[in-house]
Amino acid sequence: MIENFNKKSKNNFRPNPAPEGFSRLNLIKPIQKSLRDAGYRQPTEIQNKAIPQILANRDILGCAQTGTGKTAAFAIPIFQKLQQNSHKRGIRTLVLTPTRELAIQIEENCKTYSKYLDTRTLAIFGGVSQAGQVNAIKKGVEILIATPGRLLDLMQQGIADISKIEILVLDEADHMLDIGFIHDIKKVLKNVPEKRQTLFFSATMPKDIRKFANSILKNPVEISVKPETTTAETVSQSVYFVEKKEKPELLVQILKDKAIPRSLVFTRTKHGADNLVRRLNKNGIRAAAIHGNKSQNNRQRVLDDFKNTRIRVLVATDIASRGIDIEELPHVVNYELPNVAETYVHRIGRTGRAGKGGVAISFCDEEQKSDLSNIQKLIGFKVPVGQLINQ
Ligand code: AMP
Repeated sequence: MIENFNKKSKNNFRPNPAPEGFSRLNLIKPIQKSLRDAGYRQPTEIQNKAIPQILANRDILGCAQTGTGKTAAFAIPIFQKLQQNSHKRGIRTLVLTPTRELAIQIEENCKTYSKYLDTRTLAIFGGVSQAGQVNAIKKGVEILIATPGRLLDLMQQGIADISKIEILVLDEADHMLDIGFIHDIKKVLKNVPEKRQTLFFSATMPKDIRKFANSILKNPVEISVKPETTTAETVSQSVYFVEKKEKPELLVQILKDKAIPRSLVFTRTKHGADNLVRRLNKNGIRAAAIHGNKSQNNRQRVLDDFKNTRIRVLVATDIASRGIDIEELPHVVNYELPNVAETYVHRIGRTGRAGKGGVAISFCDEEQKSDLSNIQKLIGFKVPVGQLINQ
């Protein structure tokens, strides 16, 4: 909120201000510190709902999609719980995931949250040689993230021992069952202790998934978060069809309109954000980037500068932007459309709040036309095509 933002800005260089939303969740200091480093300020809805329940040892039946912050919702309390007996060695948590990409993504997130802890995380998946994974398991891991096939392979070879796990997570269960892992999962389940905590996440909850979930969960707490699918009517949205190489020039032209006091511009990559900032500055438009590679101090300084309009344009990646806590932002530009449609709604949600008007402009190049069509399906209407006044 803007008031919070003002308060924070007075403490501009105070080292490590507490991420206030998270302090309510009674998280241990090393985890809080890692969240601050990652730029997380407020827990997402699923984090608020799931973290206290997981810490209270409850099983979870969670209905949530990627993008809601569900990885942190289960990973953070798991790290906190494992810390209680941190001397214990061996695989203590097993996270089953359908794909290699998801396994890697969860591992990356886990490494972020455990930066100040000794707990070790490893992702194993098929399609690559098992040697590196085997070595890493032999060195010791407490949290194993696995696709079912590779896990079974390594179990059968006597390398992965999951017989003493305390927590079992099934992530994207619907997807896992879709791609026919049910038999593998059943085999895995035969090898985990009966006494355990189980966290079950699925983007959808049809009858068969619920039935399967109930067969492995004990008295679960049900948590469901819906991704936002609507954009505020007060936001005037438009899309410009442009070639990739024309984008910088178009942005400069749009931002020449002095009526725009500040603009938040989204790129997909950190590298893209830095490049764009250079282009804008060259054209006399004061801009700065905010993304995961920047230090906490730098991020805070840039946010303060943006708030005080010392810089007019903030170029952000999605991850970094989630930590930006500014309401009533009048102008948002999707320099690159997101490839996850819900992210568009998130981005647009930064403007036009509390009934205030806002402007959201999107650039769409040839490659992004299918992303635009997914976005339009989600929000339920066609984004009007924008026109430059001097064209
Ligand atoms: P997930 O739904 O787990 O795939 O998370 C979506 C993205 O949101 C990831 O890039 C996370 O790093 C990021 N994220 C998760 N929780 C938060 C939070 N509380 N604040 C800011 N970013 C977050």
